[in-house]
Amino acid sequence: MKLQIKNVTKKFKDKVAVNNFSLEFETGQCIGLIGPNGAGKSTLIKIIADILIADQGEVLLDGKKISDMKREIGYLPQYPDFFSWMTAKEILLFMGGLSGIPKKVLVKDIPVILDKVGLSKEHNKKVQTFSGGMKQRLGIAQALLHKPSLIVMDEPVSALDPIGRREVLNLIQEIKHEATILLSTHILSDAEEICERFVIMKEGVKIEDTTLAELLNRDYETVIHLEITAKDISWVQLIRKFHYVKEVELIGTRVKITMDNIQKNKNLLILNALENNVDLIKFEVGSTDSLEEIFLKMVVNS
Ligand code: ADP
Ligand code: MG
Repeated sequence: MKLQIKNVTKKFKDKVAVNNFSLEFETGQCIGLIGPNGAGKSTLIKIIADILIADQGEVLLDGKKISDMKREIGYLPQYPDFFSWMTAKEILLFMGGLSGIPKKVLVKDIPVILDKVGLSKEHNKKVQTFSGGMKQRLGIAQALLHKPSLIVMDEPVSALDPIGRREVLNLIQEIKHEATILLSTHILSDAEEICERFVIMKEGVKIEDTTLAELLNRDYETVIHLEITAKDISWVQLIRKFHYVKEVELIGTRVKITMDNIQKNKNLLILNALENNVDLIKFEVGSTDSLEEIFLKMVVNS
């Protein structure tokens, strides 16, 4: 499977919702499409799911127009809308029928899919009795019905409470083995756990295409967090004089050191600690910012 989004633009009257957006990815990846509300995520996802038509540009799956490849794509809308008087099983029969799957196949496949999304026991319950997490899992079941190779999910966990969120994240983690996943979210941490690649979108434009590892290893103000023992507190005064050390903060026996060229100089710092017989309890290289802060900075400033 290879998806190619090529220079897609979509306007609503004067509002450019998606602006010359391009992205390519292949089987086995999980892509997090991340951006604040109004960034254009839902619009782009609807174009990929062939529910909206782009004004310019095109989306190709394995080199073919998306409209000819609908069977290969499963779509979970941001606000799945079920007939609440129907049972889970009835809904899947109905939706499956709508997408042209023969009833014989559905009767065989639905119990398997309900089992996969953890709704076997509830298959005869009306959807109006379902929790948010259960509804979202039913939505995923519906997106899986025709065994697509690509699944696009629009904010699958954003509206859920912590329990529902956990249920759905675990489920997505499982279906990652069977299909390529593109999911959108406005909360970075939703994607952090399950996606390897992050595409960040703002005002219709792609502003970042990166990986978790790369984001964390960027040359943001990097710091070292140390933990030492009380006997070595005086060593901290020594550190302050090193030319590569920019700032030192000491709280109890914990030290936060901001420095230049961390890759090289962190080893000098370790050597110095050893020379001075400093008992290092903890040594951690990190960013000053959490991922969420990095994300917020990108979205606000760029
Ligand atoms: P996101 O999903 O990232 O929150 P959307 O794709 O829903 O963003 O919306 C992107 C922009 O396009 C927003 O400014 C939104 O108001 C506008 N928009 C989306 N759908 C429509 C529509 N059907 N008619 C007019 N404007 C729309
Ligand atoms: Mg949206």
